[in-house]
This record gives sequence, C-alpha cells and structure tokens, in this order.
Amino acid sequence: MAEPDTPMMRQYRGIKQKHGDSILFFRLGDFYEMFEKDARDASAILNLTLTKRNGIPMCGIPYHASTGYIARLLKAGRKVAICEQVSLPQDGKGIAERRVTEIITPGTALEESFLEQGSYNYLVSIGRVSRWISLAYIDLSTGDFSCTAFPETDRGGRLRKELMRLSPREIIIQESLIEEDDLISRIVADRQDLVVNRYPDWYYDIGNSAERLIRQFGVTNLKGFGLEDDDPALFSCGVLLEYVEDAAKSYLPHIKGIRHYSDEDYLALDESTQRNLEIVRNLQDGGRKYSLLATLDFTKTAMGSRKLRSWLLQPLNDIGKIRTRIDSVEELYRNQLLLSSISGILGRILDLERLTARVAVDKAHAKDLLSVMDSLEGIIQTTDLVTPWYDVMGGDPERRRIVGELAGFIGKAIDDEPSILLTEGRLIRDGFDGRLDDLRSLKDRSQEILDDYLAGERRESGIGNLKIRYNKIIGYFLEVTKSNLSQVPGHFIRRQSLVGSERYTTDRLIELETELNSASERIVELERELFLGVRERVKSHVPVLQAVAGSVAELDCLVSFARAATVRGYTKPILDDSTSVRIKAGRHPVVEANLKPGEFVPNDLTIDSGGTSFALITGPNMAGKSTYLRQSALIVLMAQAGSFVPAQEARIGIVDKIFCRVGASDNLARGESTFLVEMNETAYILRSVTRRSLVIMDEVGRGTSTNDGLAIAWAVTERLIAEQAKTLFATHFHELTAIEHPKLETLSMDVTDRNGEIVFLKRVKKGAAGNSYGIHVAKLAGIPDEVISRAQDILSSLELREDTLSERDRASRDAGNQADLFSPLELVGKEIES
Ligand code: ADP
Repeated sequence: MAEPDTPMMRQYRGIKQKHGDSILFFRLGDFYEMFEKDARDASAILNLTLTKRNGIPMCGIPYHASTGYIARLLKAGRKVAICEQVSLPQDGKGIAERRVTEIITPGTALEESFLEQGSYNYLVSIGRVSRWISLAYIDLSTGDFSCTAFPETDRGGRLRKELMRLSPREIIIQESLIEEDDLISRIVADRQDLVVNRYPDWYYDIGNSAERLIRQFGVTNLKGFGLEDDDPALFSCGVLLEYVEDAAKSYLPHIKGIRHYSDEDYLALDESTQRNLEIVRNLQDGGRKYSLLATLDFTKTAMGSRKLRSWLLQPLNDIGKIRTRIDSVEELYRNQLLLSSISGILGRILDLERLTARVAVDKAHAKDLLSVMDSLEGIIQTTDLVTPWYDVMGGDPERRRIVGELAGFIGKAIDDEPSILLTEGRLIRDGFDGRLDDLRSLKDRSQEILDDYLAGERRESGIGNLKIRYNKIIGYFLEVTKSNLSQVPGHFIRRQSLVGSERYTTDRLIELETELNSASERIVELERELFLGVRERVKSHVPVLQAVAGSVAELDCLVSFARAATVRGYTKPILDDSTSVRIKAGRHPVVEANLKPGEFVPNDLTIDSGGTSFALITGPNMAGKSTYLRQSALIVLMAQAGSFVPAQEARIGIVDKIFCRVGASDNLARGESTFLVEMNETAYILRSVTRRSLVIMDEVGRGTSTNDGLAIAWAVTERLIAEQAKTLFATHFHELTAIEHPKLETLSMDVTDRNGEIVFLKRVKKGAAGNSYGIHVAKLAGIPDEVISRAQDILSSLELREDTLSERDRASRDAGNQADLFSPLELVGKEIES
C-alpha cells in the first residue's frame, strides 16, 4: 500500500509537508498509520512495532483506541495532527480525499483524558518589543488568560521564574528572540518535553494584537482590563490567540477577558526560591509529596486544588487583600460546624471551570450538563452558608438568579441516566417537550399493538408458543418451533430456517416494524435537537459560570487553609507595615507534619530591617539550620498567601520578595558549573534585593576554594547588611562570626554532650557555635576508628594554626590598622606566599 510513489504516498507527503512539527495520524480504514520519521519517533514513544513496506518505515494504531496513544505523545512533548478521510473516491476509483481535521497540542488540548486534574495546562507566549519582554499565557481548559511585561534586562530571572511557576507544556516564541538571545534560548532549552513554536517576527504587532483582543472580548477598548493600546504586555497576546485558533485549530469562545498583572502585585518568588522552598514539588524527585502544597492541600475540588497551587506560588503583598483572606479563614476556623458543612458540600461540586469550557466549545455531553447542575446546586447551598462574610456571587444578585434558573432548567431537561452520545436517545426527560412525549407514547403504543397482534396470531393459528423476536439482520420476526410447523398459516412468509425452528414475517408485522422504527428514529433526532438547544442555553451563561466557578475555587482554598489550621495547629498571623518579622515558636510545616506529634522543636525568630537585620547562623551539619531557615521563609509565605501559620505567634511586616539560595546545588543538567550558577543567583539577589525583602542563604560559597568562598561570603554579607535586607545566613565559615556590626546577630544551633554522646537539640541560641562536630557526624556515619582518630589529630594542628592567625590579626588591628574585615584573609594569603 505504501509504495514510495503511489498516489497515496504522494498525498501523504503533501499533507505531511504542511504539518512538519506534528506526528501525522494518517487514516487508513480502521487505523491511523504513521510513516517514516513519525513512525520511528512514535514507535519509540508508544512502544509500537515498527514495520517496513517497500522500504518505508511505518506503524499504526486502531482509530478507536487513539485517545490513550495521543495522551502519551502529548506527554512526551509532541503534537498530533489527525488526518481523516473526508470523502470516498467516486466510482471506487482513485484514492479517498484526506484532510487534517484536528491538531492536538499539549498546550491547547481540551479533552479530559489529555489534562491533569489538579494542575493548570498553560500555553505561554513570549516576545520582545523595544526594551520589554512581553509574556502571555492561557489555559484553554479553564479560560485563565493573563499577560505581563518586564524590562529586557531582567529577562533571565523573570523568565525562569514564570516558567517555573507556570510549568507550561508548550510555548510560542518570537523567532529572533530564540535565535539571537543566548540567555533566552538556554532557558527554553533547559525545559525538556516543552513544545516550542517559533513565530517569525513579522507576525508580532502591538496594534494587531490589541485589535485581536478587542474582537475576541467584544469590547471597544482594553482599558477595562488595565491595558493601554500600546502596552508591551499586549505584544505576545495576538500571536497566542492566532496560534490557538488557526494553527492548533482549537477554540476560544469562552475567553472573554484577560488579567494584566505585574510582578509588583505579588510576593516575588524567583525560580530557585520556588524550588528550594519546595513549594509545589520536593527537591528529591520533583514530586508533590513533601511539598508545602501537599501539606496544606485540604481542598475538595479540582479547581480549588489548582487555585491553591497558584496562591502559594503567587502570594500577595497587599496588606488589605491578605487580611481579607486571613479574616475569612478565621471565620471558618472559629466555626468548625460551618467548616465541615461547607467541606461536605464542596466535595460534591465538580470541576465547573473545565465543564464550562467544554460547554463553551460545544464538547459537553449530557452527563457533563448534569455535573454542571449538581455543581450549581452545591454552589447555591454554599452561598447560603457563607453569606454575608464571603460573596460567591461577587455582589451580583443577577448571578444568583441565573445559577438557580440554570440548575432547575438542566434538571427538567436532561435524563437522569443520560447517554454520553447524541445518537442513541436517552438524553431528554419526559415532560420537557410535548412532541417528544407524543413520539414516545406512539412508540410505547406500537409495542402494545405488537403485543395485541401476537396474541391475535396465536389465537388464529393455535400455536401457543408463537413468539415475536428481533435481531439486527432481519428485524422483527415470528418464531415457530419445529413441532408446530404444520399449524403455520398461509399468510406467514418464511425468512430463515434454523435447526429447531423457522422464522417468518407477515405484511402486518412489516407495517408495524416501520411504524416502530420511524418513531424511534424521530425520537433520537428530536432528542439530539433538544439537547443541543439546552446546551446552547447553558452556553449563553458561560461568563456567569466562569465567575462563580472562580469564587468557589477561592472559597475552597479558604476552607482548605482553615482545615489545615485546625488539623495542624496553626495560628492567625498578624500582618503589618513594619519592617520586621517576629516569630514565636515557629515550626517547619512539612518537616513537622512528617514527624511524630511533639517531636518538632519550635524556634523563635526576630529580624528587622530597621534593627538587627542579619542573622548569621552557624552550627554543625544535621543540627537543623536548613530547617530553621526554610521554616522562617515558609511562615512569611504562608501568611502572605492568606493562611494561618505554624507558630505560636507571628507578626509579619509585609515582605516584597523572598530569595532562598542553597549553596552547591547541583545543576549539571544546565551545563553550567555549580559555582557559576551559585554566583549567578547571588548576583541576581544583590541586584534585586530591597529593604522589604527576606533573604535565605544556606551555605553559599561552597563550590570554590575555601579562601575564595569565604571572601565572597564575607563580601556578600557586608552588602546585604548595607542593603538592610532581612537575611538569614547559614554558613560553615566560622570566620564570619568575627564580623562585628550592630545589624548582625550571631546565632547557632544548640548541641549538648550527654554522657559523651553529642546530641543535636535543634534549638536556636544566641552566639556562635563552638565546634562544627564534623568528625562526630563522620563517626556516626561509620568511618573507621583509625581514620577518625587521625582526623582528630589533623584538626588539632589546624586549630593551632588558626589561633596563631587570629592572634596576628588582633595584633595588626591593635597596632592601629583600621578595623579591616578582610584581614584574616590577607593573612591567610601571606601565609601561602611565604
Ligand atoms: P542542617 O541544615 O543543619 O544540616 P537540617 O535542617 O537539614 O540540618 O536538619 C537535619 C535533620 O533534623 C532533618 O532530618 C530534620 O528533619 C531534623 N530537624 C531539623 N530541625 C528540626 C526541629 N526543629 N525539630 C525536629 N527535627 C528537626
């Protein structure tokens, strides 16, 4: 079939040429066939047998089982173009006409089986206009559409941050950006399994983009969305819509607005911070387990779970908005009865965001509409429970009316146990439409007539066991067993002979069958028509459905925070405009949740940009430094996301950015040395940090020689002190404790000696650690005794040398040299020279 030069292969190549970047599913009878490179790629991803015909590699899948295969290809970061036979050859000559009817891409897919329940499915678009990077993203399955712009100089950090937060499966990027900008092309290349679509520069134009949005939203200008006509954020939007509609042939009718956001609206968490704080994934395997999200997620709906994820990745920095959230959480927390009733109702609400999107693009079936109805009923109940302190209807009484009316309407229209197809009836309830009821009673009556007819034939012929049966091939027939054949009347027409019986029809039976069939057909047709009408009516309220779905998702997050607070023993944080963070008996939410109750040792923190802004923390490995550092950042993050916090008391002056860095983090995948990465990240912090920021640095400066590392750590410390950023700095460089500055406080992790056994108390105390206990940890780890005792000898002689050095340092200072922070290093340097 697949000879190189057959008309069919020519047809194939012609189509494939236009869809080079997709795997082309070429319909041949009951199969989708793939050829050449597509066949090689797909057989590897899908584990299919690769065959060859006339030297052409090919593989195929049955068309009715295609969904699962497509889902796997999308997951592997591939696009799929479906090419169908659209008409058969006339007179059976030539080949069928074929056309690509659908293109399914990871970022534009709408079918449930292609989507992950708890996560958004983002398609991101990136372009550059004058000195700005424009970024837009959309989730077609929920209608979430947003855009922003940031200065080109920040592009590295900002792009990494957004791509980390959104984890898109597909992006669209301006060609010149990816070809000429090394940094951007590296960032994009870093993300495996990402489908990258390049668009030529001439596709991009702010004016066209604005017009496209205006048309899409049906408005006269974009001011209502906070967008001026020449806003650089617009630049990437037009191409995004263009791609969805034209290239991916997907749908947009439900996209009726855009959120224009700016980094300043949120607590900024750059890429490394998102990763190191393990907000939505852990560092070990990238899974959700042991993440902050997993610890706090008590949501009941898929939309709530998605929203919670975005709340934790984009906490707020507006004190009013944060307080509104926290006050609602408090309301629920204080009223546990209410909390559990709402949780119960939310548990019955389905993914209304995605259901609504399916309604909007005419893909919802009857069961989906019932799910919409159940969800709306749940929403009405919830609304009554939470009014007045939370407004599900967004202050619009009209919405409430529409929601009630729609739920009632769907309930009256749709069958209890409907079919998910449009072709077999069982869609519409009795009593919804007079014509349908008439047809149905006609059909029921025909059944009665059929029964009466059978009774008559039995009476007349005297065949007591005469039966009417039905099969797909011959339709209705009368069945007579062999023993009764002598009684068959003359008007019976024989249709079929079987071993034990004969099958007959009669003129009257044929007549009745036609009546029955035509009623059934008309019922199916009318039900389809009525169903489409019902769906159309639901569709006319898509914006209301989207709005209430959004409010319920938020409510679900608030309920989840209140549940987490109850189950995990959190307290309400107090937020203010001060420059300080004060935490009494704080805990790490994730570490604590995975220890036995009472095992976690709580710790305090007081840090203030206006006072002691820099905490230098020393202590041996395994003493609890990292945990302490991260818990402090997580408590701030949780509070600004609107949650209660794991602490006895927390007073938090709003923070603008959190930076969390862990030294020597392995980033070989990126092809950069770990030290370079560490320095890149440090440079980024020093450029971006403000008095309002919170900086967490864990063992920075490890990836190079001791002297280099110490020197850098020292200089970075000085700079962060000068910036007055609130900083927690854990270090193994004990030398740093020599820095004296009124803004710096030295802390350490307490260790005690119990009958010769060293015990890490996990308690933070003032003052520097006396010992790093590395040899103790080595011993615990089973290093042989001889090696341990040799290490102890070496350590003693090293300590002796250090003592000498610091004496010389002191001597040099006493000799009138200016208090020079670098003097120990210089001395080390001289030591090496001499
Ligand atoms: P370090 O950064 O000093 O090497 P970590 O913070 O990684 O130490 O903590 C070491 C271990 O101690 C971790 O397994 C953690 O679960 C546990 N731990 C840390 N802090 C506490 C605490 N406050 N209470 C109880 N266990 C803790």
